[in-house]
Amino acid sequence: MSEWFRDRVAVLATMHRKEQVMAPLLEQALGVSVVVPDEFDTDLFGTFTRDVTRPADQLDTARLKARAALERTGASLAIASEGSFGPHPALPFLPCDREIVVLIDQQHDLEIVGEVLAIETNFSHITVSTLEDALIFAQKQGFPEHGLVVMADATALPSDPMIKGITSEARLTEVVLQRLQRYDRVHLETDMRALYNPTRMKAIAQATQALIAKASRVCPRCQTPGFAVFSYQHGLPCAFCRQPTAGILAEIYQCQKCQLTQEMRFPNGIEVADPAQCDFCNP
Ligand SMILES: [Zn+2]
Ligand SMILES: [Zn+2]
Repeated sequence: MSEWFRDRVAVLATMHRKEQVMAPLLEQALGVSVVVPDEFDTDLFGTFTRDVTRPADQLDTARLKARAALERTGASLAIASEGSFGPHPALPFLPCDREIVVLIDQQHDLEIVGEVLAIETNFSHITVSTLEDALIFAQKQGFPEHGLVVMADATALPSDPMIKGITSEARLTEVVLQRLQRYDRVHLETDMRALYNPTRMKAIAQATQALIAKASRVCPRCQTPGFAVFSYQHGLPCAFCRQPTAGILAEIYQCQKCQLTQEMRFPNGIEVADPAQCDFCNP
């Protein structure tokens, strides 16, 4: 894998200091040197505060950012990340942070995607009518290490300009009181931009590690990096009756260059399913 990326410039499409966590990991594992383009406005690709809508879904938006960075710099290797916050797909009451990191290598016509679903996030919002309630919310969200956004109301175009990146109690107090003079209520949100959110920064580091792990796995036939799980085969046998269950029996890896597929049975060493998950033992 190393010779594919070693000594190349990798452009990192960020203006929110993601290079702080991503660059050391990428440089060490891939042998690239990470460069951040000057004045690269990633807010054009959507904001968490909804004032700019995202042009595409999460993965496509990350791709658009990476391609814009390639065009702008003339480099052939780019990396971009994109986060998305919302309820956990399996546990709707649990907020989570899905982070995607995409690598686009034009020289080799290759794309590798790393992904993590982090359940550690302070993604949250509240509408309050007193400064006291605003300060209690702030404290719960890890303020002031984690920034806050204040707006008159929760819409994409609030009545007053939204104030982002608030990181001091004095500023928070000032902004909240200003709005409470004019409106009955004020809306607060956690600032999810990486540089204002150390918890999110950690999730971005994890997604970067997922990307590196994927890039490190090469096709056994043509040596292309990114030999990764493409699909799953279900039917893991029940521990008691041996009948097939919905559990994962095998991961199917596929090379994106030569299309070689390889079946890896019993991922994570799990060879039988819990009879509680079996339709025969526990109908
Ligand atoms: Zn291959
Ligand atoms: Zn069974």
